[in-house]
Amino acid sequence: MALLQISEPGQTPAPHSRKRAVGIDLGTTNSLVATVRGALAETLPGADGQHLLPSVVRYTDSGVEVGQAALAAAGQDPLNTLSSIKRLMGRGVVDAEAERLPYDIVPGEGLVRFQTRSGAKTPVEVSAEILRALVQRARASLGGDIDGVVITVPAYFDDAQRQATKDAARLADLNVLRLLNEPTAAALAYGLDRSATGDIVVFDLGGGTFDVSILRLSKGVFEVLSTGGDTALGGDDFDRAIADWVLAASGQAVGDAMRQRGLMTMARAAKEALTDAAETAVSLGDWRGQLTRARFDAIADPLIDRCIKACKRALRDAKLKPAAIQEVVMVGGSTRVPRVRERVADVFGREPLIDIDPDRVVAIGAALQADVLIGNKSGDDMLLLDVIPLSLGLETMGGLTEKVIPRNTTIPVTVAQEFTTYQDGQVAMAIHVVQGERELVDDCRSLARFELRGIPPMVAGAARIRVTFQVDADGLLSVTAREQTQGVEASVQVKPSYGLSDEAIAGMLRDSFACAGEDKQLRSLREKQVEARGLLQTLANALQADGERLLAEGEQRELLAAMEALHKAAAGGDLQAISAHIEALGQASETFANRRMDDSIRSALAGRHIDQLQSEEH
Ligand code: ADP
Ligand code: MG
Repeated sequence: MALLQISEPGQTPAPHSRKRAVGIDLGTTNSLVATVRGALAETLPGADGQHLLPSVVRYTDSGVEVGQAALAAAGQDPLNTLSSIKRLMGRGVVDAEAERLPYDIVPGEGLVRFQTRSGAKTPVEVSAEILRALVQRARASLGGDIDGVVITVPAYFDDAQRQATKDAARLADLNVLRLLNEPTAAALAYGLDRSATGDIVVFDLGGGTFDVSILRLSKGVFEVLSTGGDTALGGDDFDRAIADWVLAASGQAVGDAMRQRGLMTMARAAKEALTDAAETAVSLGDWRGQLTRARFDAIADPLIDRCIKACKRALRDAKLKPAAIQEVVMVGGSTRVPRVRERVADVFGREPLIDIDPDRVVAIGAALQADVLIGNKSGDDMLLLDVIPLSLGLETMGGLTEKVIPRNTTIPVTVAQEFTTYQDGQVAMAIHVVQGERELVDDCRSLARFELRGIPPMVAGAARIRVTFQVDADGLLSVTAREQTQGVEASVQVKPSYGLSDEAIAGMLRDSFACAGEDKQLRSLREKQVEARGLLQTLANALQADGERLLAEGEQRELLAAMEALHKAAAGGDLQAISAHIEALGQASETFANRRMDDSIRSALAGRHIDQLQSEEH
């Protein structure tokens, strides 16, 4: 649902008014920027001719270095050279300590900061430097300021991590058109959004992380069915495994840090050489040896096993069999390893997509998306939701809908609302999530149902259940219900647009306008009926407990008659009659209510000692 564009009066959009939009893959190890030129998306090289910018920032005496220069200096200036910072986006000090990164972390609460010679730096500030370097490169290539960017993030990034990424962009003065999930970007790069439907696996093996995502495509919208992976598994582990093999084969010791680094560099070069060659020379000190592809496959297999396990788990989570997968997209430099490709092909019974450079595929997808969002292209063929097309809400008593997020709200959005129990002692709540504009649940579309259990028993209306509706940038809705005193919680995730065509949405809207008047009357009636039943229930409980003790037989009979009359009226459709009987029952029960009040005060006082009452006065 991209916005329709209208040009200014008297002006037609000329071809040269194309806006400059770029896609940015802000990676853990490497980052890239790409743009659409002509009909093709391409990544942009820096002054050194390299497309990959190492995601490394060094604070020097004279300023900031980003990329290759910073990476090269990491060895001699480790505390001022920050890498793998993506792992700490939106994270606290505790998480940073768990990652065991070799930086000087400023102690304290809250978000992590590193002590550098230029002062304390947050991951947001460090990421902003990387973004600035990429945009600088894009500006030089495209000859002018950049109008908008799409930045990719892992599908599993939570709100805090996404917000931190946006903050970094704001700090770098960028206009963020959207954050896009990395696997979605990869799928877009292959044009998979143009097929009608299908389930897609995105296998992303980078330098230090492995992510697998299962996406479902329906009418140009990608839904994340499941994600999995390992945040400590990547190409670096292959390097380490080769280094271990070299140490064993040569019978030599690791040696000092310098030698260790040299060994790792050699191992990485050997691994990358084996992607194209059947064997390669390796050395350590004066030891010389050969590493064959077959030997490397055997070394790599246990690591690849872990990737495959994670894939199978993600499939299970998505409730899919490997045969149901339509395409497998390979992302990340380490998917160049032939053995990785072989084994992935084996699991899914199909050749994975590898035509687009796996380092660049995410940036390319982001660039395609940026081009559409900035308005250089009609958005018809890429329906990624900007607004919620239909209201999202809950079923309340009487089969009524309560709209929590009204239609046309732009996403992402979070709205919370409090609800309460209907009956005394109610310990569970049925939550029914619905979509649509109509007042009655039966006329809306049911999205999901779940139950919140473990509500502490209280009188009706006393419990506080906070229900939060959150729609992320991908249009994914999560609904969470949380009881406020005990903190019990339950939630569900749905894709509101799933399976809904534009015509179906239009039809639902037409119905809601046509039925607005009728719906409103029906809603008032239902609300009155609910009020009547609630009152009857409360009174019945009270009578059960105290009726005989506090009321004479005649009084009881009178009250029961008034209740019976309201009960009859509530079953009918006459709003006025129900209101009148509610009023009448209120009067008929006044004496009973007063006596119960007096009684409860008396019994409360009777249970206490005099000294207790006195001490409460102080
Ligand atoms: P990230 O997503 O973490 O930023 P990348 O996708 O850039 O990382 O992947 C980096 C990894 O890819 C490194 O471990 C690197 O050694 C590996 N790699 C790059 N080229 C090759 C190749 N030709 N053969 C094998 N591995 C490669
Ligand atoms: Mg990556």
